[in-house]
Amino acid sequence: MKAVVVRGIQQFEVADVPMPEPAAGEVLIRVGYCGICGSDMEAYHTGMYAPGLIVGHEFAGVIAQVGPDVADWRPGDRVVVNDAVPCGECRPCRDGRLDACESLYMIGVTHDGAMAEYCVAPVRGLHRLPDGVGLRRGALVEPLSVALHGVHRSRLKPGDRALVMGAGPIGLLTLQCALVAGARMVAVTEVDPTRAALAQKLGAAVVLDPTRDNVVVNLSALTDGQGPDVIYVCTGAPQPYRDAISLVRKGGQIFVLGLCVEPVEADFMSVAMGDLCIEGSLAGRAQFAAAIDFVAQGRVDVESLITHEIALDDAVEKGFKLLDTPNSGAVKVLVRIGGELTADR
Ligand SMILES: [Zn+2]
Ligand SMILES: [Zn+2]
Repeated sequence: MKAVVVRGIQQFEVADVPMPEPAAGEVLIRVGYCGICGSDMEAYHTGMYAPGLIVGHEFAGVIAQVGPDVADWRPGDRVVVNDAVPCGECRPCRDGRLDACESLYMIGVTHDGAMAEYCVAPVRGLHRLPDGVGLRRGALVEPLSVALHGVHRSRLKPGDRALVMGAGPIGLLTLQCALVAGARMVAVTEVDPTRAALAQKLGAAVVLDPTRDNVVVNLSALTDGQGPDVIYVCTGAPQPYRDAISLVRKGGQIFVLGLCVEPVEADFMSVAMGDLCIEGSLAGRAQFAAAIDFVAQGRVDVESLITHEIALDDAVEKGFKLLDTPNSGAVKVLVRIGGELTADR
C-alpha cells in the first residue's frame, strides 16, 4: 500500500510499504481522509518523528478487518480514532492524569499513522462516526477535540473575554469553542491574511496583526483596560508566548495549545506579580466524543477550515510544501485517500 513515510529531516516520501495486520485488540482501517497537522510540519522540520514512521493522526475511515479477539466492531463501521491512547498502568494514569501518561500510544507519532491507504488502530481509541458526518468532516474531529479540551481545561467562564494567538486550525477551532463556552468577546492575533479573514468570519471580535497593529492598545480598549481573562497560545512562533504574559489581565490565565520547539525567554517576575496561571494540554482524548457531537450538530464550522484537498501521491510535494509556504492561503490541508468510501448522508 501507499503511505507517507518519514526518512529524515525535511525528507518525507510517499512510499510503497507492506499492508499492516491488525493484532489482538486492533482493527485495520481503510482511510478516507487524513489531515496534515501543525505537529506533522514541526516534525518535518525538526526530525521529532523516527525514520520509517508512517505519519498522520487526524483521520476518518472505515473498518476493513478486525483483529483476532475484537467483538464490538465490524468491517464497514465508520470510525474516527482518538490518537492518544493512555496505557492505564503508569503512575500518572493510576493518578487519573491520563493525558500525562508516560507511554501514550499515539497514532502517527509513536506508532504508524493514517496518511496511508490503511492503518491499524487499537479498539480502545475507536469512536463511531454518526451517519450524518462524512469522513471528510470526520477528519477534523481530532483537531477539534484538541481545541475543545483546551477550552474545557482552561479557566474560561461565561462572560469572560479571551484572546487567541495564532489562527491556524487549532486557533480557529479554539476561537469557536471559546464562543460556544460563553466567552463574550474573543480577539485573535494573526499575521497571515487568509487566516485572519477566516478568524473574522468565524466570530472573532477583532483580528490584530502584531506586525502592524498595536495589540496592547487595541486589547486594552476591548477589555476596559484590564486585558483578556484567558489567552490561548495556538502558534509555534516564540514571540506570542513572551507577549502573552504582559497582555493577560492580573489573575488571568495563559493556556498553551501550540507547539513551540524553541525555548522561550519570558518575564517570570510578571507571572508572580500578576498572580498568573500558565497551563497547557496535549491532544483531546477526554473531549473526543463531545467533538464528534459538535461536528454532527454543526456547533462549530469545521468545513471552512479545509482550504485544500490533495491526493495521497501529492501529500508531500504539494501538501507539506503548501503549509511550508508563507501566505499560501493554506489552513487545513486534507489528504484525500479513499474519499468518502460510503455515501455521505
Ligand atoms: Zn494534530
Ligand atoms: Zn500511562
